[in-house]
Amino acid sequence: MAIFNIDKVNNKYSSFYQEGLAQRHIKHDQIRPLIDALAKDERFLVRMVGNSVQGREVLMVSVGQGDTTVLAWTQMHGNESTATRAAFDFINLISSEEWKAESQDLLSKITFHVILMLNPDGAEIYQRENVWGLDLNRDAAAQAAPESRILVTVFREVKPQYCLNLHDQVANWGVGETKRPASLSFLAPPGEATSGWPKNRESAAKIIVDINNMIQNYMPGHVARYPDDYEPRAFGEFCQSQGAATILFEAGGYNKDWEREDVRKYYLLSMVQALDSIASRAYATNDIKAYESIPLNNKRIYNLIIRDVSYQGTTLSIGIVWEETTDHLDRGVYFTGRIDAIGDLSVFDAYEEIDGNGLVLSAGRIYPQELTDSSLELIRGQLQQGCIYFRYKDDSSENPVGVPIALGVPGKEWQLSLDAQPNFLLLKDDTVKYAIVNGAVAYPQSTDHHTINGIRVK
Ligand SMILES: [Zn+2]
Repeated sequence: MAIFNIDKVNNKYSSFYQEGLAQRHIKHDQIRPLIDALAKDERFLVRMVGNSVQGREVLMVSVGQGDTTVLAWTQMHGNESTATRAAFDFINLISSEEWKAESQDLLSKITFHVILMLNPDGAEIYQRENVWGLDLNRDAAAQAAPESRILVTVFREVKPQYCLNLHDQVANWGVGETKRPASLSFLAPPGEATSGWPKNRESAAKIIVDINNMIQNYMPGHVARYPDDYEPRAFGEFCQSQGAATILFEAGGYNKDWEREDVRKYYLLSMVQALDSIASRAYATNDIKAYESIPLNNKRIYNLIIRDVSYQGTTLSIGIVWEETTDHLDRGVYFTGRIDAIGDLSVFDAYEEIDGNGLVLSAGRIYPQELTDSSLELIRGQLQQGCIYFRYKDDSSENPVGVPIALGVPGKEWQLSLDAQPNFLLLKDDTVKYAIVNGAVAYPQSTDHHTINGIRVK
């Protein structure tokens, strides 16, 4: 018997949604006060389980009195915050009066431990790896990083029967052969190279069946199965090999939900479903074939596709991905565009498309003079005239420009290639129909992101 009414949890999400964590770039300082507040609540046990390389305290929250032990960890990869945000939603849910009966039932059956932000140094600089640049999820065997040793020590101490390994994936994964983004992907990782089905891995797969069946009601067709290549250095494999039923969660893209606020809700529902299934053992009667029939992740979704554009006498399509990055100027997280594929892209989909029929791909022009502060309207007009490269009189970081432009000039004549900056024009009868800067539509002006110095900032 299920404990939670997932429909009700979904409908009342806003009542327990944790405010203040609406961006993907979440730092340790932002969650620390929330955890300190939990430490004063007698229902929760908060423990410092170790320090990161830079000395930040890694904290674990424990709740429940049940015999079944579940260990979860978030943000092992510093730039993957959706689980941290959903975990605070979950903590609010089980703390609320509204779900008191359900929570007591759940927590009489399970004891839930969650390490909130295993990699706080990586989170600080929005980086997957720890501050050394070491990927913790390739460190389960070697345990070279202190953050990896924290997880192994906690694992050995709490001896979980179940593990939730909570991640984010890029928005460019699709569901199998479809053109839908893989908004949530799951995996019951193999515990050994010969990918058999020991009992614990089978349990993980069957729990995923429950999650998938539930999510299909809210995001039909948006769930995929993460590839199950055996990776002996990864923590999912490590925990599975130690006998804990281990599930990998991955939050992905969904419509233009760049901050993953929509997916966060479905991530929360998936966590509730997983813990509910574990507590009630409702998953036991599921068929493993239902797990194997979930379509695999497949790289199918571009951020921008320009279809069937004319270039040097032929017709081709261009697929562009937007990669997230940060820089030392502390401008936050921003996108940098990259040409990922050129040619026949008919099997791919995109968050945004341009029909290039009747359009000619052409290099952008360089604005001949140096810019000053007051050039905003001039820039807008020049984009329309096909100038996409601009130079500043002074240091550009001192002169924020709210228009997407390429600062500086290209070193050589622009030609279409995978390495080329995605800065170009689409012309119709020699007039500019679109200006593409940094892989996104700069003219006519897109309102998706705000822009500083030509960079689209989230
Ligand atoms: Zn990850």
